[in-house]
Amino acid sequence: MRRHRHAKIVATVGPASNTPEKLRELFLAGADVFRLNFSHGTHEDHAKVHAAIRALEKEVGRPIGILQDLQGPKIRIGTLVNGKEELVKGERVRFVLGKEPGTKQNIPLPHPEIFAAIMPGQDLLIDDGRVRVTVRGVTDNAIDAEVMVDGVISNRKGVNLPGTALDLSPLTEKDRADLAFGLSLGVDWVALSFVQRPSDVMEAKGLIGDRAGLVAKIEKPQALEKIDDIIRLSDAIMVARGDLGVEIPPEQVPGRQKELVRAARLAAKPVIVATQMLDSMVAAPTPTRAEASDVATAVYDGADAVMLSAESASGQYPVESVEMMSRIITSTERHSAYRPIVTALEPELDSTPSHAVAGAAADLADTIKAAAIFAFTASGNTVARIARNRPDVAVLAATPNADVARRLALVWGAHAIQTGDVGNYEEMVTRAKELAVTSDFAQSGQRIVIVAGIPFGQSGSTNNLRIAKI
Ligand code: PGA
Ligand code: MN
Repeated sequence: MRRHRHAKIVATVGPASNTPEKLRELFLAGADVFRLNFSHGTHEDHAKVHAAIRALEKEVGRPIGILQDLQGPKIRIGTLVNGKEELVKGERVRFVLGKEPGTKQNIPLPHPEIFAAIMPGQDLLIDDGRVRVTVRGVTDNAIDAEVMVDGVISNRKGVNLPGTALDLSPLTEKDRADLAFGLSLGVDWVALSFVQRPSDVMEAKGLIGDRAGLVAKIEKPQALEKIDDIIRLSDAIMVARGDLGVEIPPEQVPGRQKELVRAARLAAKPVIVATQMLDSMVAAPTPTRAEASDVATAVYDGADAVMLSAESASGQYPVESVEMMSRIITSTERHSAYRPIVTALEPELDSTPSHAVAGAAADLADTIKAAAIFAFTASGNTVARIARNRPDVAVLAATPNADVARRLALVWGAHAIQTGDVGNYEEMVTRAKELAVTSDFAQSGQRIVIVAGIPFGQSGSTNNLRIAKI
């Protein structure tokens, strides 16, 4: 079972897709990684989905990635006496510290750290940015604000504070409990929401260790300022355009997407482009042309993966959404415009030997028109380094480690195969040729490029290239 594309698909699981049958349909349609969104659902719900995906893995004989997405410190207003309030442009409203139901003269905001950090002139956005107010005065327990963009606010709507760096851990009590639970299940990736600083990533890393890869969700302007450090400390990033497009002006999102994808690729870390990619397919069987173009743009940018949220979690056409995404990726990667664009963005070769060998493998495979690149990898890092160069062929990754195989489901072009260690060089060559053929990536007469670290079993020793003819 192989895919005929390089970019991967992350599908969020929810009521529209959480049965074993639907998960199988989504996988067969093209989902490479399933996202468990811990902003919704109970631990019991997530445990069932997790078990169904692991059973599906056995059935299809392919590693499947599972990404646990932690809710993070999502800020919300409290409740209103009448359930909602209409805010009118130009009027003054007040937010108060506390949980008591209020009116627009005392909108409850149960987050003391906001009152400590926000300053006059800064904006407070409610309900995905639909309503905007500007702060005019602040005390320890009250914020006076002027309504700039009017609209209706209702109970527990989300709040974004684009200009304000909050003294918040990216891990709430709920996140810590959810994380411990996810790790006990054995998720492959953990996504951290609303990362603001490099120290946020370190804090989460300290809890996760090497039990899962960490995805830093980039959705705060503060994270953009420290992006190089955040990427260096993370195992992957997500361009979380939903919140990002509220926190920064929407017209800046496309440029930021390009920067983020490029920076992640340069660091050989996977990057996911997320949110609203095929949003109209929540309620329609075909996407808008603009959405098709958006998925294609992420592929041209060189993203490792594109993501579906409500489309696969709660929409009416979850399977069609995955199929459509897969078709757009495949069609884009086969278009004559693709290679020139993706190679023009190729990062310069890094001078460390393992990077240089990986880059050379990618160049060599393209030059001799090899059928595939075959890497023996203990950690998966070699594969990410080869993928960084976005070669024209698949990167087959032989690893004895099931967790590594699953994590690679997120990596551009990677096709992981779990196999035992090889004892010597000749056995390595024979095994690579066999697996390339049985996995349907190469045929008799074709060449493959084999990448390995000699001596075997030493991580970080990638130093050997071999061309082998099948
Ligand atoms: P969310 O993250 O769906 O968990 O908010 C993605 C985003 O903000 O784009
Ligand atoms: Mn978000």
